[in-house]
Amino acid sequence: MKIIRLYGFIRRQLKSAEVVLARTMGLLMRIANRSITERKRIEQELRIAATAFETQDGMMITDRDKVILRVNRAFTESSGYGAEEVIGKSPQFFRSGYHEPAFYEDLWCQTKRQGYWRGEMYVRHKSGAVYPIWCSLAVVRGTDGTITNYVGTVSDMSRRKAAEKEIMELAFYDSLTKLGNRRLLMDRLQQALTVSRRTGGRGALLFIDLDNFKMLNDSAGHEIGDLLLQQVAKRLTNCAREGDTVARLGGDEFVVILTDLGPQIEHAARLAELIGERIRAALNAPYVLADQVHYSSPSIGATLFHAEHETVAELLRRADLAMYQAKAAGRNALCFFDPAMQRAITERAELESAMRLSLQRKEFVLHYQPQVCSDGKLIGAEALIRWQHPQRGLLAPCEFIPMAEDSGLIIPMGLQVLEMACQQLMEWSARSDLCNFTISVNVSARQLHQRDFVEQVLATLDRTGADPKRLKLELTESLLLDAVEDTIAKMTALRAHGVGFSLDDFGTGYSSLSYLKRLPLDQLKIDQSFVRSVLVDPNDAAIAQMIVALGQSMRLNVIAEGVETEEQRIFLSGCGCHAYQGYLFGRPMAPRSFETYLLGIGCDDARPKITRPGEQRCHPLGGRLLLPIAP
Ligand code: C2E
Ligand code: CA
Ligand code: CA
Repeated sequence: MKIIRLYGFIRRQLKSAEVVLARTMGLLMRIANRSITERKRIEQELRIAATAFETQDGMMITDRDKVILRVNRAFTESSGYGAEEVIGKSPQFFRSGYHEPAFYEDLWCQTKRQGYWRGEMYVRHKSGAVYPIWCSLAVVRGTDGTITNYVGTVSDMSRRKAAEKEIMELAFYDSLTKLGNRRLLMDRLQQALTVSRRTGGRGALLFIDLDNFKMLNDSAGHEIGDLLLQQVAKRLTNCAREGDTVARLGGDEFVVILTDLGPQIEHAARLAELIGERIRAALNAPYVLADQVHYSSPSIGATLFHAEHETVAELLRRADLAMYQAKAAGRNALCFFDPAMQRAITERAELESAMRLSLQRKEFVLHYQPQVCSDGKLIGAEALIRWQHPQRGLLAPCEFIPMAEDSGLIIPMGLQVLEMACQQLMEWSARSDLCNFTISVNVSARQLHQRDFVEQVLATLDRTGADPKRLKLELTESLLLDAVEDTIAKMTALRAHGVGFSLDDFGTGYSSLSYLKRLPLDQLKIDQSFVRSVLVDPNDAAIAQMIVALGQSMRLNVIAEGVETEEQRIFLSGCGCHAYQGYLFGRPMAPRSFETYLLGIGCDDARPKITRPGEQRCHPLGGRLLLPIAP
């Protein structure tokens, strides 16, 4: 209302000022031709016009060349300049730099064409401050129709703008915490949903309710309660990222909208969880309220949103429900609404803590998969980790390695693997049939990039007494891509002690030949994806052939993994492959089974029977060795 009234007032003022001026100029034209008595009457009218010129609005009159001839007091007051400072100048003098030159060109063009221009513009005050004005320009024409003058009327809009801002703040912001209010939240949430529909990116809504706030309010008083709410608001704002919206719904309820969480649900959930936990931790830190230390905690409900999803009201309902779930779970907790998501997050957390415990209890074991050379003789084994889960049974690495990598548990896990493999080497070294076996151990990127990786490996070899020449570390191509120099230095240092290196999953990465040459490698391992289809896909056959040729030219031994049929072996052998690993020779086996397996194939020369193409190969221990694990 205030604004409408103000606007009406300005328009009335402008109109009256324009009328007065037009009349004044008309009078000036006619004055010379009038009789004395008429002249007196006109002089009186002029006095009236001069008084009217001094209105509350600023006025400026220029000649046809836009040179300022006259300004009134209101004009000098609002611009900060005295009349003598502006008379003789062009209106350009007040330009603020806020508008493009085209803006002024248009403005003068329109004024000339239609006789007037009205609009908002920013001008510069004498103090240098830039402020908004409402400006009205009109032309004055002589009897012949040519422009003789321009008349400008201006009114300062700073107060109106400030009032607008105040109204806006009252309408969209919470006066206590200065956070957005429910209306702003609904507005932003609607925007976030629209953006998500357009980009396919996910977002999340966190509904935060303070635990036992009512108790603090009742016992310590509302002022203390208000102080807590203000501090909570500040902490929430600090936890949010740029672009996120933090709002107060009312009472002790807050909402945070997270946007730009990416298109993948797992990633979005992880990010939302991370920020949610950050908020929970921040709100748990002690508060000092009127010199007293207070403690508070939040219950947080979270829900993800995405393109195909729901309405704003539905999202709020879900987040609210999830918040009640968090309260029911004992408060000071974060709960996801999406039941599947909630389950996944709970499972993840459970798995991670179970993994930690299992590491302490040494429930991870190694299984060994035979590796044979071209004449069929057993030469060693790859150590493959399994988790002997107390409830879920034997778990394959794909079920826990990614999470071990994510959580950093891969570091202690990798050390245990190394320790177990070296102990195994030590045991085998005492047996004449096994003393020449090598064990290949998979090393993850995080493990290798540990500062003291070399020392850790050497210390393990030392502690167990294993022969470094019997230990081979399998690295993947992608692992070698970053920190190349560091990797080469570490490999070289270990190699000086006799440790060997195999490049695992070869052909799936992006190694450049020039830098492959620099790596102190012993072996290339053809990835099983090529081996699987060597007989059906000519491209894969060509790649396998090329890897063997590459190995030969670089004097590296080549092993093929995932060899399942005799036909595949024969093809690879034709290419010149040196060694094989795969179900054709044996699945990964527990150490005891591995030893029995050796006995079964006759450990004199540890030679699995190699058959002719097409002949079904039958292992002495057959299916009994196969693990109930999906590889
Ligand atoms: P990888 O290093 O490429 O290991 C070879 C995988 O192929 C093993 O799966 C093995 O069981 C499977 N495999 C072997 N022969 C055949 C075959 O003829 N046919 C088929 N279909 N599969 C075959 P596994 O044991 O499930 O291991 C999966 C991955 O987990 C390994 O791939 C490796 O990247 C990782 N991993 C295993 N143990 C460790 C470990 O101790 N440390 C680290 N960092 N990663 C490990
Ligand atoms: Ca491997
Ligand atoms: Ca592999």
